[in-house]
Amino acid sequence: MAQRKHGRLWCWLGALLGLVLAAPALAQALLDRNQGQLALAPHTRYLHDDTGTMDVADAWREVDQGHFEALPATGAAFGFQHGAFWFHIPLGNQDTRQRQWLLVQEYPLSDRLDLWVRHADGRIEHDAGGDHLPFDARAVRYRYPNFMLELPPGERADLLLRVQSQSSMQVPLTLYTPAAFIELSRDAQFAIGIYYGILVALFFYNLVLWLALRDASYFWYLFHIGAFGLVLLTLNGLGFEYLWPGSPWLADLAVPLSICLAQVGMQQFARVFLRLRTAWPVGDRVTLACIAYFMALGVASVWLPYRIATPLASASVFLSIGWILTVTLVAMRRGDRSARLFLLAWATFLLGTAMFTLLAFGLLPKSFLSGYGVQIGSALEMLLLSVALSYRYASLRNENERIVRRAKLQLESQVLERTGELRNALVQLETAHARLREASRHDPLTGLYNRGWFRERFESLLEAARLQEQPLSLLMVDLDHFKAINDRHGHLVGDDCLRRCARIVEAVLRPHHALVARYGGEEFIAALPGMDVHRARELAEEICKRLRAGPIRTRGPEVSVTASIGVHVVDTADPSPGIASDLALQVVDTALYAAKSGGRDQVHVAGG
Ligand code: GH3
Ligand code: MG
Ligand code: MG
Repeated sequence: MAQRKHGRLWCWLGALLGLVLAAPALAQALLDRNQGQLALAPHTRYLHDDTGTMDVADAWREVDQGHFEALPATGAAFGFQHGAFWFHIPLGNQDTRQRQWLLVQEYPLSDRLDLWVRHADGRIEHDAGGDHLPFDARAVRYRYPNFMLELPPGERADLLLRVQSQSSMQVPLTLYTPAAFIELSRDAQFAIGIYYGILVALFFYNLVLWLALRDASYFWYLFHIGAFGLVLLTLNGLGFEYLWPGSPWLADLAVPLSICLAQVGMQQFARVFLRLRTAWPVGDRVTLACIAYFMALGVASVWLPYRIATPLASASVFLSIGWILTVTLVAMRRGDRSARLFLLAWATFLLGTAMFTLLAFGLLPKSFLSGYGVQIGSALEMLLLSVALSYRYASLRNENERIVRRAKLQLESQVLERTGELRNALVQLETAHARLREASRHDPLTGLYNRGWFRERFESLLEAARLQEQPLSLLMVDLDHFKAINDRHGHLVGDDCLRRCARIVEAVLRPHHALVARYGGEEFIAALPGMDVHRARELAEEICKRLRAGPIRTRGPEVSVTASIGVHVVDTADPSPGIASDLALQVVDTALYAAKSGGRDQVHVAGG
């Protein structure tokens, strides 16, 4: 099977090599059922009718005149030829019982075979075969053309076979006893079955993966398997047997078409698998050109004569595989790790094909490995490609996961950085806010608390005093005739006086845990928790005394300042807090007014 398939690829080259050797005189093919099968090449003589016009009578005449030649050393393989080939085999049945013999042409693609059997009594029988006749026309429903011969024991006969074909002229003839044929064909079918079993299993396994993953490379792998399987089906005659038995017209077309399809699949699979578009753009364009070429050739093969389309497609396969090896090596050098498995896969395919070719040229002994090299090589190739696909998918997934992990880490560190920055900003904001809040409580000129903050704090002091049933004294200090000071010395000197007076008031009251504030222009107020009226008056007197004691030093002249002070001790038994604070302030203000009215520079205690 394998031999036939690739035989067509090389045999026309083989013919060109001129390995043509004349064989010695032919012996009759003696049939013996114990032998089971008999290869007829050593007993075959042939004649090439290159116009294809010779008729059977002429051919018999040529046989009888001894004009037929022995086959060359390569056997009945002549490559792509014009005209028709005639083969003559003299047979002698030396078996005592066996009457029936099956003649098989172990090459499935010949177009038309005509067989004449000339019996000893001069009777001539004719039969026809080849893939231009429907499959059912065969004696045995088998992928190779075959004829059943009736040859009674002890009789002789001459076989004359005319072969005309657009495909490679290969006519390896073998005679089998029906029993031997059944055994041998069963073994061959079994081997083929294993091969297609592997292909079908790989196909469905990867089909499921493709449906699940939707990765384009799986699709092209399926395409490649499908098309390659079709090539082999066509070349080994199984396509005709099972797929298009009633359509001989497809026999010729299927060969170049399936080869082109397989090449399109192979090239496109390589493109996608190796990610050529990014890995090697120039290589990608060349691969696309290859694909375009095979597509064009595939379409053209519908019209092109078979003898042009098929050799062209077959020869292009070598270039195509060479190119795939090149891009794989380039991708490997550029760091694609999965390309190594890809290369190994194609190498097994090439090795299998090479073994088969070496066998075909007679350089390698026939063995199971060499005989089924293409099948073993391609099955291994597809298996390895399937593994390579999984490997590639896994490495892509790992790469993606690595990218995602790195991005996540980057994001996390960025978030940490931003959080730190935010926290800093928040701390700064809080400090600024605290500073502002502190500033908003103070009077900028004297540094004392301002009126607003005093009111707020005073309420709570009042509340605390009420709870603890402690006295709370209020002092309201107003500088005397301050307007006159301003008028006389100017506002800046007035400001200096205000600052200085504030320090004096503060110095006297702070040791007593007083809440001191600037209440208005030149008025100060102080709340003294736990202080009774007696101590409050003493402190107020102390303030007046210190002011009176000496002129205040300013940026200008020294200025003498006095103050009037109202004193009030709040009644902490009063239950209404809001009204109590207003009332207390009003009372202390009235006390101050009384001190003013009393002549200034004095202390007046409310109700005193
Ligand atoms: P009295 O003895 O009746 O309190 O007379 P007075 O002049 O002190 O009272 P008045 O209420 O008539 O005037 C208060 C003056 O205080 C008016 C204003 O020029 C002065 N003053 C208020 N705030 C400031 C300030 O911040 N800086 C300066 N330099 N002067 C101020
Ligand atoms: Mg005043
Ligand atoms: Mg005043």
